[in-house]
Amino acid sequence: MALQLYDTYSRQKRDFHPADDKRVTMYLCGPTVYSYAHIGNARPAVVFDVLYRLLRQTYGTEHVAYARNITDVDDKINAAAKEGGVSIGVITDKFTKIYREDTAALNVLKPDFEPMATGHMGHMIALVERLIEAGHAYEAEGHVLFDVTSFDGYGQLSNRKLKDMIAGARVEVASYKHNPADFVLWKPADENDPGWKSPWGRGRPGWHLECSAMIEAVLGTRIDIHAGGQDLIFPHHENERAQSMCSHDGKRLANYWLHNGFLDLVGGKMSKSLGNVKLIHDLIKEWPGEVLRFALLSAHYRAPLDWSTALLEQSKTTLDRYYGTLRRLSDVTAADVPVPESFLSALHDDLNTPKAFAKLSTLATQANKADKTDEKATLKGEMLAIGALLGLFEEDPETWFKSNKGLGDKDLDAAAIDALVAARVQARADKDWGEADRIRDVLSEMNIVIEDKNEGSIWRRS
Ligand code: AMP
Ligand code: ZN
Repeated sequence: MALQLYDTYSRQKRDFHPADDKRVTMYLCGPTVYSYAHIGNARPAVVFDVLYRLLRQTYGTEHVAYARNITDVDDKINAAAKEGGVSIGVITDKFTKIYREDTAALNVLKPDFEPMATGHMGHMIALVERLIEAGHAYEAEGHVLFDVTSFDGYGQLSNRKLKDMIAGARVEVASYKHNPADFVLWKPADENDPGWKSPWGRGRPGWHLECSAMIEAVLGTRIDIHAGGQDLIFPHHENERAQSMCSHDGKRLANYWLHNGFLDLVGGKMSKSLGNVKLIHDLIKEWPGEVLRFALLSAHYRAPLDWSTALLEQSKTTLDRYYGTLRRLSDVTAADVPVPESFLSALHDDLNTPKAFAKLSTLATQANKADKTDEKATLKGEMLAIGALLGLFEEDPETWFKSNKGLGDKDLDAAAIDALVAARVQARADKDWGEADRIRDVLSEMNIVIEDKNEGSIWRRS
């Protein structure tokens, strides 16, 4: 099965065909570097990293150009700099570095390009000039605005009608706008804020403009995939699309628009005002990066993801099982084999990671039961090939268990014990005795006894 991706613009899954299979282009809207990134921000970085790995494997590493920008011009950055009494560069350097470290801990590969907004001011100004010249933008009181009525396709990506956008306006109404839905391309900078010289006075770009200019500068006028969180569909991506198309004679910006669903905490939204934001930076101190990555991939990327400690514990248990298999096969040299077809076709189905994980589980069971060396070598090779595609199994199994930041040194709560017991029941059903015994051992180390009864397995603390 060929790769199919759900495209927000056409609202359907479509076969993926790059415009040029010698240069497959993908852009992901990256972080605004004013503070630590939370685990919700890690979701697009991780899920589109899997897509990046898949594209590299399909088309060849050197034929994929992936850009994820750094937004280093923004009101929140200005506010953080003022609060700290430092220049914006101090804030953006610090949090860019932290973002890179945090995502690296989740095995996120470095993109091929990491453009920064401050490095592309010339491109932004040139793009605005082209829009003015073509009659799609106008200057008013030091601002330059995009005239949404000048572009028939405005609203097509987010499936909104112009009149509804104005009626439900979260758009800023200002006297200098011709139409309340017109959005800012360039705005004046306050005297004490960072600003750049432009034909319209000292100012700074609007957020949407930053991405349009960076895409054009590093990838070109038309790209294969544009990705981001679903909150970006409107207004951010709608506006990027309008600017880019109108400055390129109506040429389509992206062939596929991909959007990930939101991550929320079980029982509610993660929000700064509620004081319950989970930062990547903190979570990686408590959990192995692969556990966080596994948890992030456990739901389909377009579905909502409920984040909880139980999810992390289950993810840890499952990864322990796979590392246990790899440890048992440590004296076998892995065969150089491709990713199994059944696994690949799950990923080809719009990156269906839950379906792909189910295939991985079956493979691990087979590997645990295998007794012939060549069979073991093939299965180990397949597991490692899957790991390379998913960004998992990068640790040596011995190290994984030794540096075990998970179950070994935690007080297990009931949900985690239930998950382990259920995993053991499944292993027994699969006649995977090695795995069943391993889980019993893990539990007994924590003074938990399992009793197998006719009606099922029960546990108690001893
Ligand atoms: P920001 O730095 O807020 O622009 O967000 C960076 C990326 O994270 C964007 O693609 C957002 O759509 C995405 N994002 C933010 N919050 C969440 C969340 N809770 N779940 C999933 N994605 C998110
Ligand atoms: Zn963007």
